[in-house]
Amino acid sequence: MRLPDWLRKNQNTGGPVHEIKKGLRRAGLHTVCEEARCPNQGECFSRGTATFLIMGNVCTRNCGFCSVASGEPLPLDPEEPARVAAKVLEMKLRHAVVTSVTRDDLEDGGAAHFAKTIFEIKKICAETTVEVLTPDFEGRERDIRTVCEAGPHVFNHNIETVERLTPMVRNKASYRRSLEVLAMARSTIPPLCKGRSGGVDLPPPTPPYKGGGLIKSGLMVGMGETPKEVEAALFDLKEADCDIVTIGQYLRPTKGSLPVAEYVHPDRFKEYESLGREIGVKHMFCGPFVRSSYIRGPINA
Ligand code: SF4
Repeated sequence: MRLPDWLRKNQNTGGPVHEIKKGLRRAGLHTVCEEARCPNQGECFSRGTATFLIMGNVCTRNCGFCSVASGEPLPLDPEEPARVAAKVLEMKLRHAVVTSVTRDDLEDGGAAHFAKTIFEIKKICAETTVEVLTPDFEGRERDIRTVCEAGPHVFNHNIETVERLTPMVRNKASYRRSLEVLAMARSTIPPLCKGRSGGVDLPPPTPPYKGGGLIKSGLMVGMGETPKEVEAALFDLKEADCDIVTIGQYLRPTKGSLPVAEYVHPDRFKEYESLGREIGVKHMFCGPFVRSSYIRGPINA
């Protein structure tokens, strides 16, 4: 389908972006921005933010919308958490996002490696808020607790699409299990208390954890869902006590990925944004280019 005007975007791959990519390679680090061919990477990199992809760039799953390689991952690199923290310090990030491939091959799904990465960033970057975008750890509460008890400012786990389409879009995941992951995180991370920041462009956060944190999720649209199904998903996310929800346009990253069923008009995104607020989700970010860690503007309690 021809790309509509609202989805045409100049990719800024000039000097600073190129330098950041070279720096990431030198440090032996991956970003989901590059692996997922995100349309915003030029803008984010030139704004000095990036989403680190830990635990390698080979996933044990093979979701229909994702361009990350699927197969047998390499063993974890115990030095990676400290290297990510050093890069966060070097890039002077105010908000660091850490995500990963899914490691169903690991006993704890990589939960301890996530916790160590959070710990290392907070150890040397006290002014930086840390967001983790995690897999579902096959719904194991002990592993979700391991990550949450490391004190991320934002715990993020995407449902990615509506319930009916989940088997097609994420064949090894479950819609209901992802809602349970968010509810478990909420039961471990208390709501953000007044005066504590949880996101980008904000005053330095209060000492870790005591002040609570934010629970976040997101989905893509344009994969064949109906507005009624998106509304039902928003009610489910509210039920799981999500503070932040992002909704963006699905874009086909490779020929082998699922086709785009619809380019959703920007007006519909505005409708979803106000609908989510009416339903009671505090922070809604919806738009064609909105991605899980691509958010404009401050978030406060
Ligand atoms: S689990 Fe995540 S990284 Fe793996 S294929 Fe699915 S979306 Fe991609």
